[in-house]
Amino acid sequence: MLQGFPLLLFLVTAAFLPASADSVPADCGGTAAWRTLRHVQNAVGTTNCFWDDESVCVSNGRQTVRFYHNRRKSEINGVTLWLNAPTDGSAPKGDWRMAGVDLDLLHLAVLQETEGPKKRLHVMLDPGHGGSDSGARSLDPPVNEKDLNLELALKIGAALKKLGFKVSYTRTGDDALTLDDRSRLARKKKADLFVSIHANHAGNGAAQGVETYVLPPSGFPGTAAGSRARGWQIGNRND
Ligand SMILES: [Zn+2]
Repeated sequence: MLQGFPLLLFLVTAAFLPASADSVPADCGGTAAWRTLRHVQNAVGTTNCFWDDESVCVSNGRQTVRFYHNRRKSEINGVTLWLNAPTDGSAPKGDWRMAGVDLDLLHLAVLQETEGPKKRLHVMLDPGHGGSDSGARSLDPPVNEKDLNLELALKIGAALKKLGFKVSYTRTGDDALTLDDRSRLARKKKADLFVSIHANHAGNGAAQGVETYVLPPSGFPGTAAGSRARGWQIGNRND
């Protein structure tokens, strides 16, 4: 149904990471809280480490984690994952380190199996618009964005529940919610991940694809090219 639809879908996600008082590297305006290679090995559950000219690699047989020297790029089982801050130092020299907040993120996302039973992650889905606010509108086929957002959110929620996630919604009907209402609900439910779903209008009718905006922890840049580190914003002040 989405094929050729002249609206552009985008998602806004905010990862609510465990609060950490000093998790911002010094070059991002805060106190450094680095983790050493030993911390990473403990997290992965291994004592091995391989390095070459461009990367450090740690593996426990099931999970292989690779960090590229002085870059934000990392790979988990071959899947690229962008860190909030570049790694620092050198493994052969013994001063390799990574930002603590990034190791927290790895724990949350992929390394849970090494530390006891898996925590059931809670995802909150926020279908954009609703009520008298229809959002963007497609004439052919005639669809209001608010309805498409809700339909998508319910489908995504059902799929996530099947995979074992806890799912909640800001709305499950044609309700009018202000942005404040939505953030209030997010705070109240304390979800691990908040995903706002929209289907944008595009001037170019041939445009299609997905845009994803992620709110990084405070003091870290986004993943867009040229993005700069910023201070806190509403939504990440206490990260
Ligand atoms: Zn929208």
